[in-house]
Amino acid sequence: MIKSLKERDQAVNWHPYTQMKTADAAIAIVRGEGVFLYDETGKRYIDAVSSWWVTLHGHAHPYIAKRIAHQLTVLEQVIFAGFTHEPAVELSENLLALLPDKQQKIFYSDNGSTAIEVALKMCLQFWRNRGTSKRKIIALKNAYHGDTFGAMSVSGRSAWTNPFEELLFDVVFIDAPTRENIDEIKGQISAIATEVCCFIYEPLVQGSAGMLMYEADALSDLMAFCRRQSILLIQDEVFTGFGRSGKLFAADYLTEQPDLMCFSKGLTGGTLPLGITSCTSVIFEAFYSDDQHRALFHGHSFTANPLACTAALASLELLLLPETQHAIERIVQKHGTFAQAVRRHPRIKEVRQLGTIIALEWHTEQAGSYFNAFRQTLYTYFMERGIVLRPLGQVLYILPPYCIADEELDYIYNTIQTALEEL
Ligand SMILES: *Cc1c(COP(=O)(O)O)cnc(C)c1O
Repeated sequence: MIKSLKERDQAVNWHPYTQMKTADAAIAIVRGEGVFLYDETGKRYIDAVSSWWVTLHGHAHPYIAKRIAHQLTVLEQVIFAGFTHEPAVELSENLLALLPDKQQKIFYSDNGSTAIEVALKMCLQFWRNRGTSKRKIIALKNAYHGDTFGAMSVSGRSAWTNPFEELLFDVVFIDAPTRENIDEIKGQISAIATEVCCFIYEPLVQGSAGMLMYEADALSDLMAFCRRQSILLIQDEVFTGFGRSGKLFAADYLTEQPDLMCFSKGLTGGTLPLGITSCTSVIFEAFYSDDQHRALFHGHSFTANPLACTAALASLELLLLPETQHAIERIVQKHGTFAQAVRRHPRIKEVRQLGTIIALEWHTEQAGSYFNAFRQTLYTYFMERGIVLRPLGQVLYILPPYCIADEELDYIYNTIQTALEEL
């Protein structure tokens, strides 16, 4: 008997965020093309969550593939301490040209969590190098910044962090700012301001928390306040970057600029892992010294891998094409129309949209828990109909690759409308 990939997988692989005993066997995907994934039985799925929010231009994009294939024959990897290469230089130049003016330097790592670790270490060592010992970090309640220890520490405490809780460093958690609570938050921060090293936040949308959204005005106001208190600002655009928010970066909605920014996910168009932490020259200069001990002690084996940088260059090029910008606008508009259509449905508690991200929060009996049974019902319902949607608890969201056609988007919307009647 020849075993399926699915069966072979079960014998050897351990999957992320998965209770291996109760979970269904993983579906073996043998091919991807554009917005579609194909499993080993030949079934086709629309990847409506962009494979965990990373895929921008569709799977197996021929242009990105061509660029990576060429780079493979030129230089696949080189140590990034003491050496550099064209893809890293060009990517930094191209990205800095698109970021808020104050971002002046790029530090490479491997993924979103490491981009966060680097930003936190930069902030902590920034104050140390300047001879002060500011050590408190402010983060948002319900935050998600990744799964490594530093990133977990600045994330909201939850079922994910519980097993490690006593080993996480202390963080001051504040509510996401609104017009109503902003004065209270400022008061809270004022009381500890002299000890605060930095404030880290996901701008405008807290993805993993269930696509919770908050206003740009309130965030800009809070950022300006922090700046006056000499609190460094780390803007985590790992999720919101590269068009997801409807603009190139969430930063483009804000009137204030951060000191550091973190990127990953869509950075390479979702083809290869890569993380970036960018910072201002003020941050960089605190490390710039004749003293070896002031250098930033951080690095990874694959720092600025030339293949990943090449993928990012190709993806950025595609992202800036007028066709892609129109595609994003089209998704934003269609999401808006769909939001209006379902907003008042009795099964829907709230619809939230920012750019190409749309989230429908359902009314459920067991509301509030990520692990509620309704989540599984929703997941299975859409999988059976050839759509990959991975609800966060009772929050169903659509986050498509920008290459999705109207026809496929309409199929997703219609299937959700049917689910609203049937489930
Ligand atoms: C996914 C995510 C991270 C972590 O990125 P990984 O590459 O999964 O480590 C950090 N911040 C935000 C906002 C994210 O959505």
